[in-house]
Amino acid sequence: MARTPPEEDRRPGEFELISRYFAPLASKVPGALGLGDDAALLTPLPGTELVLTTDVLIESVHFLRDDPPDTIARKALRVNLSDLAAKGAQPAGYLLVLALAPWAGTEWIERFAYGLGADQNRYGIGLLGGDTAATPGPLSVAITAIGTVPAGAMLKRSGAKPGDIVFVSGTIGDAGAGLDILRGRAAGGETVRSALIARYRLPEPRLSLGRALRGRASAALDVSDGLLGDLGHIAEVSGVAIVVEASCLPLSTELVRFYGESMETRSTAATAGDDYEIAFTAPASSAAEIEAAAAESGTPVTAIGRVEAGQGVRLLDAAGVQIPVRRAGYTHF
Ligand code: ADP
Ligand code: MG
Repeated sequence: MARTPPEEDRRPGEFELISRYFAPLASKVPGALGLGDDAALLTPLPGTELVLTTDVLIESVHFLRDDPPDTIARKALRVNLSDLAAKGAQPAGYLLVLALAPWAGTEWIERFAYGLGADQNRYGIGLLGGDTAATPGPLSVAITAIGTVPAGAMLKRSGAKPGDIVFVSGTIGDAGAGLDILRGRAAGGETVRSALIARYRLPEPRLSLGRALRGRASAALDVSDGLLGDLGHIAEVSGVAIVVEASCLPLSTELVRFYGESMETRSTAATAGDDYEIAFTAPASSAAEIEAAAAESGTPVTAIGRVEAGQGVRLLDAAGVQIPVRRAGYTHF
């Protein structure tokens, strides 16, 4: 993509940009009013509650200028849908705030909007509104997603009890390995590398699992900053300790090919970011219920540990000895 002269000069004006690229994404949502009003309207069904979440993606922090614009858009949407998934919510729509840097021209915006359109169809939602501004940079994309749950059914981080089992969906560490590859780590064959990079670029929000966990999980959250660090949030808010068995962590064959099978690989996977899986707890008596939820949603779920009285998160090896971890997860500050 050309960097000079500034693409900004060749960009349509703000209103044309909205009507050409974003209004079509709102066409199937009556409450978006064609993106022609000051605000959008949403009518929750009686007996439902709205679940609101927002996440920002910033150039050089969450994505790189050269990343494919359609995957930047899809990831921005999916990380929000992942939060809704972890709360057991059904997505209803989203708002988009774009701060466009000079380097992002018409072609970038077109491909960005194309990516959003593709995922909107995939998840059955539409654009409700947003805001668009020019910035000297970096470019940022903020999405606010809105979902619904039957009143009282939202899954929370609080609610884990001593004796509960700890579960996680899918496999963990893949996206972290994908980022490692993009940063230049050379290992594994071509298919392994592209599978891991794909998991970094395009997380899969576990929406149907989240819905199936309503009334079944005692606590849940989406794993975005590292499994152990994120489980630490459940432990803290629920006032409990969480113990994770390293040998139980679900690892993909690609991850094992890339890093090799070792305890080091397991602790790396347990602290790497961008998984966008759901970690949750449930009473030991509801193991069959959780199996049913996994089967109903077609999402693999693995028991990885237990909740105890106390505080904090510990990772144990097969002999029950605590594995020291350098940091439990990613933090910005
Ligand atoms: P305001 O003057 O209140 O900022 P705008 O002129 O920015 O309003 O927005 C006009 C309409 O276009 C609104 O309905 C707004 O939600 C929508 N809109 C603006 N930017 C975006 C965007 N990036 N994505 C979706 N909708 C947008
Ligand atoms: Mg505006």
